[in-house]
Amino acid sequence: MFSEQENCIHSHLFHKYPYAAFIIEDNVIVNCNQAAMSLFGFYEKKQLIGLHLYDLCPLVQKDGQLSKNKLEKQLSQSHERNEERFIWTHKKSNGEKFNAEIILISEIFADREIKIATVRDIKDKTILINDLDTQNINFEQLFNSFPSAVAIINNNLEILNINKCFKELFQYSHEEIIKNNIKELLSLDLFDTKLWDIKERIYNQDTICDVKTVCRRKSGNFVDISFSMYPIIHDNVHIGNYAVCTDITELRKREEKIRFLSHRDTLTRLYNKDYFINHVRDQITNLENIHSSNVKMGVLLLDINDFNSINDNLGYNIGDIFLKIIAERLKEHIGNKGIVSKFGGDEFIILVYNIENRRQLVRLGRDILKIFDKPFTINRYDFFVTCSIGISMYPHHGDNSHDLIKSADIAVQKAKKYNGNKVVIYNYKLNQDVTEKFLIDSYLRYAIENNELYLNYQPILDAQSERITGLEALVRWHSSEIGYVPPNKFIPISEGNGMVLPIGEWVIKNACMQLKKWNDMGYKEIFLSINVSIKQLEQKNFADFVIRTTSKLRLNPTNIVLEITESVYMENLERIYRNLKKLNKFGIQISIDDFGTGYSSLGQLSKLEISKLKIDKSFIKELHINSNNAKIVTAIIVMAKSLNLSIVAEGVEESEHTVFLKKAGCDMLQGFLYSRPVSAEKIKQLLKKGTLSQSAEKE
Ligand code: C2E
Ligand code: CA
Ligand code: CA
Repeated sequence: MFSEQENCIHSHLFHKYPYAAFIIEDNVIVNCNQAAMSLFGFYEKKQLIGLHLYDLCPLVQKDGQLSKNKLEKQLSQSHERNEERFIWTHKKSNGEKFNAEIILISEIFADREIKIATVRDIKDKTILINDLDTQNINFEQLFNSFPSAVAIINNNLEILNINKCFKELFQYSHEEIIKNNIKELLSLDLFDTKLWDIKERIYNQDTICDVKTVCRRKSGNFVDISFSMYPIIHDNVHIGNYAVCTDITELRKREEKIRFLSHRDTLTRLYNKDYFINHVRDQITNLENIHSSNVKMGVLLLDINDFNSINDNLGYNIGDIFLKIIAERLKEHIGNKGIVSKFGGDEFIILVYNIENRRQLVRLGRDILKIFDKPFTINRYDFFVTCSIGISMYPHHGDNSHDLIKSADIAVQKAKKYNGNKVVIYNYKLNQDVTEKFLIDSYLRYAIENNELYLNYQPILDAQSERITGLEALVRWHSSEIGYVPPNKFIPISEGNGMVLPIGEWVIKNACMQLKKWNDMGYKEIFLSINVSIKQLEQKNFADFVIRTTSKLRLNPTNIVLEITESVYMENLERIYRNLKKLNKFGIQISIDDFGTGYSSLGQLSKLEISKLKIDKSFIKELHINSNNAKIVTAIIVMAKSLNLSIVAEGVEESEHTVFLKKAGCDMLQGFLYSRPVSAEKIKQLLKKGTLSQSAEKE
C-alpha cells in the first residue's frame, strides 16, 4: 500500500489535476477535484459527493431507460477492460448541457472496485467522437452500406471511423487508418493547396461539395475522387465531419472519351476540322510567345480527285473504306512531324511543324502523293485514286489559321485543274490578279460617298403558282475609276478590309426603303431577301440596327429575310447567335444561302434559328444531266422539310429544272429562266404586269 507521504502526493495531484476527475464507487461519486467542481458549476465538494452519475446526465432524465442502459453498459465495459473512453452529454448545476469525453478507469482498491472518471468538455473541438454514432444501433449498418467511401473525421482531420467502401477504395484496414490525418494518409492535394481554406471551412462548419481531386491508395496508386465534407453537429456542438470520397475514375474515363470524340472525325478517327483550326491557332500563339520569327509551319490541304465517282460507282461503304485507308496512310506518314485532320467529305488537312523552307514543304507534298501510288485493296480488288495537294506556309501565306487554310485552299483549287497527282504551293499570283485586288480595295473605300453603289432585285417565285412572292436585293458597284465590278469580286475584298460593314448598312437601309415603296404601291405581301455577311452578324449591335431600320419604316418584319452563308470561319459564334436570336424574336426571317457548297451542317443549322434554306445554284445547274446533283437536291429538300424549313432553289435556268424541283417539293424558285436581277423600276413593271401573287394583284 502507499505510504502516508505518497497518499499525500496522490491527493495533491488529484486535486490539482487540470481536468475534472471523479472517484466513483457503486455508481455514486465519492470524491472529486477542483476542476470537476468548476466544470459542473458547483462551489463545494459536498454538493457533488453522494450524487449518482445519472444525476449529472440530462439524457437519462429525458429519455429514461435507453440512456440509462447505455450508461450502465459503458460502466460495466470499463470494468471488463479497465479503461473505457466515450462521449457523454452532461449537465451543469445551472442546467446547461455540454458534451464531454469521459475516460473511465476501473481499479480494485483494498478489495473494493472504484472508478476514476476524467471528464473533458469537447467544445475545444479536438476530442474524439468515437462512440457518438453508435448511439444509433442502425448507424453502423447504414454507414457500411453507403455506396461511397465515408470517413468520420474530427476537426483536426484525424480519421475516427471508416466504412466498408472506404476500406475497399483505399485498401486500408480499419486499424491502419484510424487516428491518421486524412490529408496525409490520402495525399489529398486539395488539402495541400487549400489547407487554410479547408480549416477555415471546418471552423465555419461549412459543407464542401464535390471537389474533384486526387487521392493516394495504400498501394501508392492514385485515384480520381470527388470529395465532400459535411459537419456533424450534436446538441449544437460541431463534433466532427463526414468526409465522403466518391470514385470518379469511370466518370473521368467517360468525360475523356467524350472530349476525345468531340475532337475527332467519326469515320476516320482523325482530328476534326474544329480541332485543327484551334490547334493551328494555338501553335501560332506559341510561336509568337517565344518570338521565334524564323520557325515556319506548313499547311497541306489534300483533295481526293473524283471522289464522288467512287461513291457513285462503288457505293458509300466502299468510299468510307477508302477514306479510312487514306487516313491510316497519312497518319503513319506524318507521325509526330505534325497532325493530320479530316477537313471535309473528301478533304484532309495536315499541319507540319518546324519547316525550313518552301522546297522542303513541296518535297513533303510529293512524298505524300506517293502514298497514293500503292493500290487500295478493297474486297480483293485493287483500286487507284489520285489526289491534289495545295500548300501554304506560315508566316508567309498567312499569320492566322483562317488565312493559312484559305491560301492552301486557293492552291489546291489550282492543283485540281491539272486533274492528277499534283502539288501546288500558294503564291500571290494564284489569287488572280493582285493588282486588281489592290485597285478594288483602294477605290471601294469611296464607293458610298461617291454614290457608286446601287441595288438590283431578282424575283423569287412560288414554285406551284410561279408568281412572284419575294425579291432578293443584290448590290452593284460601278466605279468611276475602274468601271463595273461584280459583287463576287468586291464583297470578299470588303469583308477583308472592313468595308462590308458600311456597305452592308447602306444595302439594308436602301433595300428597306425600296420595300416600303412597294408596300405603299399595294404590294404588301412580298418579302425582301437581303444578303448579310458573317462579318456584319459578328457586330454587337447588328440586330438592333436592322430592327431600328425596319421599325422606322413600319415594315412587317416577317417580310424581311436575311440571307447568310455559313462559314467555317465564324469567329464570334456567341454574338452571331445572339444577333440571330434577337432578329428572330422580332419576327425577321433567317435564310441559309448557298446551302450544300461549304460548311453548312445539320448540326449547326439546328442551333441557328432559321426559317429558309437556299440550295446553291451549282447543284441546280446540272440537275437534269447529273444524277448525283439530282440526288443531293432531293436529299436537301427532304432534310429541310423535316426541319420545317422552306426551300428556295436558285440558278433555275431551264424549264427542266422547274419540273424536277416542283416534283421534289421545292417551295420557291429563282433564276434567269424567270428574270435576271433588275432595277427597282423594272421590278415595278414586272409586278404590274401580273407576274405576281394573287393577293398582291388584288391590292
Ligand atoms: P448570291 O447571294 O448567291 O446571289 C445570287 C447570285 O446568283 C447573283 O449574282 C445572281 O445574279 C446569280 N444568279 C441568279 N440567278 C441565276 C441563274 O439562273 N444562273 C446563274 N448562273 N446565276 C444566277 P450576283 O448578283 O453577281 O451576286 C453574287 C454574290 O455576291 C451573291 O451571291 C452574294 O453572295 C454577293 N452579294 C450580292 N449582293 C450582296 C449584298 O448586298 N451583300 C452581301 N454581303 N453580299 C452580296
Ligand atoms: Ca443570296
Ligand atoms: Ca446563293
